[in-house]
Amino acid sequence: MTRAFGIIGWPLGHTMSPALHNWGFAELGLDARYEAWPLRPDDLPAFMARVRETPIHGLSVTIPHKRAVMPFLDRISDRAQAIGAVNTLYWDDGLLCGENTDVVGVVAPLRTLDPLPRSALVLGAGGAARAAVAGFLELGLEVAVSNRTRAKGESLAADFAVPCVDWDERMDNGWGLVCNTTPLGMSGDLADRTPFDPARLGPDGVAYDIVYNPLKTRFLAEAEAAGRRTISGLEMFLHQGLAQFRLWTGRDMDEDGARTLLLAALAG
Ligand code: NAP
Repeated sequence: MTRAFGIIGWPLGHTMSPALHNWGFAELGLDARYEAWPLRPDDLPAFMARVRETPIHGLSVTIPHKRAVMPFLDRISDRAQAIGAVNTLYWDDGLLCGENTDVVGVVAPLRTLDPLPRSALVLGAGGAARAAVAGFLELGLEVAVSNRTRAKGESLAADFAVPCVDWDERMDNGWGLVCNTTPLGMSGDLADRTPFDPARLGPDGVAYDIVYNPLKTRFLAEAEAAGRRTISGLEMFLHQGLAQFRLWTGRDMDEDGARTLLLAALAG
């Protein structure tokens, strides 16, 4: 029987996850299908019953369900507990488990950087910022946070015992890595905005934007023009997806092929 996978979120706009995972299933000859399931918050309890009954073999979870699914699970990884959010459900020995692969996703593109920056500033204080802070701490970087709304930045900073930098002073420090997790630069009304002047990065600085649409945000274009290294949000999306696929199938999707697929999807 075809195994069922999918993504829940509300509103669930266009997502590249079905294209990615269905491509991976086909490449490896797996009898499985990944679907997009828009799900209103009120319908979450009934859906979670369906996950166990049907059963649904694996699930991606996005806004606004990342925290709300947690009480429905049998086991939650330490990583997801620390972040307070789950983006992946999978089964292990009959137990419905929760993981957060955004952490693996945000860190993976840094593993090939040489030299690896020593300090990192995370811009924003939402769910993606929490994953970035957790991931950069795992890598051993000195991490700080800056957020437009200071109180929210301070709350995140306190949870991870890192400093919170005032939004107006975010460019003052010569950071080694600056990671944008705000929607500034995203296609639409915010496309011409940027959260940081890359000329204010440290000499070996890296500009990392987790926004991936457009692929080259204003932040990344200006960083490139200033001769800085850049990382696109597509890498984070790709690697969080590869980690989900591994949890669900025990197999590795071809990374280069998957990247080519996503680049084509974004270009189209
Ligand atoms: P979120 O929880 O809504 O947090 C958004 C953060 O951005 C908040 O801290 C908010 O600050 C800040 N912000 C919003 N508008 C701003 C503005 N005009 N100026 C300055 N700061 C602003 O969102 P999230 O779940 O963390 O996601 C953030 C972004 O990451 C989204 O664009 C999402 O698409 C992207 N993302 C990408 C990946 C990937 O795989 N590449 C994965 C997850 C998320 P306040 O507290 O002041 O409101």
